[in-house]
Amino acid sequence: MIIILHLYDLTIHLQNEIKMRILLFFLLIPVLLLGQDPDKVEIIPQKLTDNIYMIKGSGGNLGLMIGPEGTLLIDSQFAPLSEKIKTTIKTLTDSPVKYLLNTHWHGDHTGGNENFAKDGALIIAHDNVYKRKSTDQIRPFGRSTDAAPKLAQPVISFNDHLSMHINGENIMMLHDHVGHTDGDAIVYFPESNVIHMGDTYFQGKYPYIDLGSGGDVESLLKSLNRTLFLCDDETQIIPGHGNLSNRGELKNYRDMIQEVFTRVKQAMGAGLSLVEIQNSNPTKNFDEVYDGGFIKKDKFVEIIFKNLDKGE
Ligand SMILES: [Zn+2]
Repeated sequence: MIIILHLYDLTIHLQNEIKMRILLFFLLIPVLLLGQDPDKVEIIPQKLTDNIYMIKGSGGNLGLMIGPEGTLLIDSQFAPLSEKIKTTIKTLTDSPVKYLLNTHWHGDHTGGNENFAKDGALIIAHDNVYKRKSTDQIRPFGRSTDAAPKLAQPVISFNDHLSMHINGENIMMLHDHVGHTDGDAIVYFPESNVIHMGDTYFQGKYPYIDLGSGGDVESLLKSLNRTLFLCDDETQIIPGHGNLSNRGELKNYRDMIQEVFTRVKQAMGAGLSLVEIQNSNPTKNFDEVYDGGFIKKDKFVEIIFKNLDKGE
């Protein structure tokens, strides 16, 4: 009987602990989403040309173009950072954001959409960003994401490319292939020789390919090849995450993904299991450069494996 009571106490104790952990988790969600306390995030602009900036904060890197025909912002990070981002933009121009371009639908790139739309920003993105932002989404691991408020959704969406002609630039939003998601767009400023790649490029890190959002490794490689074709040695490349980059680094990144992809594919062809492939360490000569990010080497291998394993 005493043992049963102890077991009962233990069960109650465990239940309370689980409840406490769940409560703590929900209390911590804003910090978890941001990765850090919003009050402590610094919004840091880096000047690339006379009127184009890369801005770091928390979440995806922002791109900013200022000029007489309107302020253009690429991505919007997390909602709690919007006021800080607006304050930073005000130090560079008196004009509020007129055009807000989304490189894809993920919350660390679109979380501030509504806050900028309230000030009159017109949101532009690929058709699949509109589809995912305007409907409830079932995510991997049973997570779900509700449709965004109307104001946070793109007003203009496009299929493969869209051109804008402002501030002396013929800006292109290009979507040739799915990659990180099915709604990726890169933003190309040909006159200024600047490209914002969204999350098709995690500078200095293994890539995240969101299979649950239509991402695909082989298509990402095609997309990277297309972007390399647009670049020369002077191109300034804004990655979705990481530091300002260049063609040489992007080429090494493409080569790394291609090499690991080929190794995993060959190992799968030889009948190896995921764990056996991970244990064979197919990323070994790249870990020193790329294994410090959100996606660790084993996860990267798992993504490739699952991507190739689909339907078999
Ligand atoms: Zn992303």
